[in-house]
Amino acid sequence: MDLNQQDNYDLQYKQLGSDTDPAISTGGEEKTESSSLCFKTKKFWKILTAIIISLTIIISITFLLLGSARSVGKVLHLSDLHYDPIYNSNALNHRHCACNFVDEEKKNNCTAPNSVQYGRVGCDAPLSLIETALASAKANLPNPDFIVLTGDVIRHHSEVLGGSLPGRLVNLFQIISDLISTYFTPTISVGQSFGNDDFQKNYFFNTTEECNQPLLKAVLPIFQRMIPPLTYADKNSFHCGGYYSFNINSKLSIIVLNTILYSVRHNPIIITKSNEADPMGQFKWLENTLNNLQTSGNGKSVWIVGHIAPGYESFDMQPMWDNDYTIKYVNIIKKYNKMIKAQFFGHEHLNTFRLFEEDSKILAPIIISSSISPIFCNAPQYRIIEYDTHTFEILDFISYRANVGSGTWTENFRFSKEFNMYNGLSNYAMKTFTTTMRKDDSLFQKYRIRKADNVEMPYPKCGTSMPPPAKNKELCAIEHLERGKYEKCLLVGG
Ligand SMILES: [Zn+2]
Repeated sequence: MDLNQQDNYDLQYKQLGSDTDPAISTGGEEKTESSSLCFKTKKFWKILTAIIISLTIIISITFLLLGSARSVGKVLHLSDLHYDPIYNSNALNHRHCACNFVDEEKKNNCTAPNSVQYGRVGCDAPLSLIETALASAKANLPNPDFIVLTGDVIRHHSEVLGGSLPGRLVNLFQIISDLISTYFTPTISVGQSFGNDDFQKNYFFNTTEECNQPLLKAVLPIFQRMIPPLTYADKNSFHCGGYYSFNINSKLSIIVLNTILYSVRHNPIIITKSNEADPMGQFKWLENTLNNLQTSGNGKSVWIVGHIAPGYESFDMQPMWDNDYTIKYVNIIKKYNKMIKAQFFGHEHLNTFRLFEEDSKILAPIIISSSISPIFCNAPQYRIIEYDTHTFEILDFISYRANVGSGTWTENFRFSKEFNMYNGLSNYAMKTFTTTMRKDDSLFQKYRIRKADNVEMPYPKCGTSMPPPAKNKELCAIEHLERGKYEKCLLVGG
């Protein structure tokens, strides 16, 4: 080592600072060189550790900021309004509004000692109750991103209203549509499905008439007013089978199904072979629509809106859909599992949900909202759904309720807070919740209370003395839509 080299080393030593080993500048024995190497390794690890810690802090802060900046969209969910135009505030609460039947024998025994303006248990909703619900929704969410209405705007047994068809039904659809437009501007889209009580008779849809459906033709202009213009194909599907789709924006589409076609109670009985496999061609249309959205290349998300959900109902655990149709539906949803971000249904007049098997990798569970009608003893309710505006996945919902007869609405519960569920409402998260309910009986009882929010808990079907279903039966119905899997669950649990 010459002098210049020594100078250079001295200079480097000074630059490196006091904790640099001076031995390196003087050369020396092997031992000294080894301790110098050891020092260098230590220094390297110190610097690397500092870099890793800094990066971790930066990444954490970025995630925190991104998390807090997550954009939350809000949608109003209305279900089962069951508007009864002949609700009588002085009538006794016979089940199914018997007081309103135009039947002299029943009328004689029908007058109540008091008058109740905003609806009674055992009767469907007067317009005054629906108006208070919309006024409350408007106050809580003045500008929803859009509205989902999961069917049954018309009272049970609407045939007692008399009048010609489809006029008497069209008139009621018009009244409800006008009322929604009074509170929410017509530029707010309403994805509205048909319910079993929206047709001329309960669960009635004539599948042999193909596209000659006078009610659907007459109702389309009423629905069309509250959604973007339908394509020619969707107008046709609406006319033929009461199903359609529309875009909320370039990233989200709504598919509205007519699930009455799949109900075990559907009438008249489907007789033709081709209709049996796919009534009114809805499955084929659903698959084509999903396929077109997927291949459009926009990374589209889809929300599905319907009335009767597949699987088993929550009162007597009877099947809601024909099992073959349930299997077909599950297979389609499975095929397009990445794009379907939400599935909303009604019909049960209960707050509940249904799950898909975990290996299907379906993201969105079936979310079922309670009703505005108090006919089955549940408190009238509507919901505000919260979703992530980037992924369109459901984050949470808030239920609002009025005590039966009061017409005064208050916040009922927020799902996340009520059930300590802060990871959204994915199929996976709801499966975890259901598994926890199996082990934690107090959580299950809490769910049962929120299911109906009525005075006769835990069994929500008032006017009967039947005991509630067994816990395992109820949870199996949540966890399994298909008959084979549901029945196996009844035997083995879980
Ligand atoms: Zn209903």
